[in-house]
Amino acid sequence: MEKVGLNASFINRYPHEFSGGQRQRIGISRALALNPELIIADEAVSALDVSIQAQIINLMEDLQEEFGLTYIFISHDLSVVRHISDRVGVMYLGKMMELASKKEIYTEPLHPYTQALLSAVPVPRKKGSMKRERIILKGELPSPANPPKGCVFHTRCPAAFDLCRQVNPDFKEVKSNHFVACHLYT
Ligand code: SF4
Repeated sequence: MEKVGLNASFINRYPHEFSGGQRQRIGISRALALNPELIIADEAVSALDVSIQAQIINLMEDLQEEFGLTYIFISHDLSVVRHISDRVGVMYLGKMMELASKKEIYTEPLHPYTQALLSAVPVPRKKGSMKRERIILKGELPSPANPPKGCVFHTRCPAAFDLCRQVNPDFKEVKSNHFVACHLYT
C-alpha cells in the first residue's frame, strides 16, 4: 500500500471508504503484489477526474521505473496515450490497424483511421500556420460480432476502393518498425 501512496493503516477499510483515485491505487498494488513483468491497464484512468488521472499516471510511471515494468495501456484518450506510451497500436473493431513509435503515430499517421482519430484532437496553432483539416467519419460503427467483409474499416473509410470491400489487408511493416493494415501501402 505504501508503494502506491496509501497509508498502510487503511488496510482493514471497506472499499466504499476509499475515493475513486484511492481504489485505483489499490488495484495497482494488487497487480504489483504478483511481482509482474507486464501489467495490462485497461482504461485505467478514464473514470477519474483529470487531476486524479495525472496523479495515477505519475504513480504508474514511477512504479515502471522502480520495478522495470512494461505496460500495455488501453485507452480512448489520445492525450493520455501520447503522454504515457513509447509505442502506440491503433485498433478498430478488435483488429490492429497501425503500430509504430509514438512519434511516428502522432506526426506521420499512415492508416486512414489513425488519421481520422488524430484529426479530432485539438492542437494549439502557431500564428500563420495551416489549419488542420478535421476528418469526419460517416456511418455507424459495425458490430464486432459481424464485421464487414474485406477491410473491416471499408464502410467508413474515406479512401476505400474496390479491393477494400473484398480482401482483408495484411498487417505488415511498411517502414522500419511501422506496421499498417491497409491496401494503400501494398
Ligand atoms: Fe481504407 Fe481500404 Fe485502407 Fe481499409 S484497406 S483503410 S478501406 S484504404
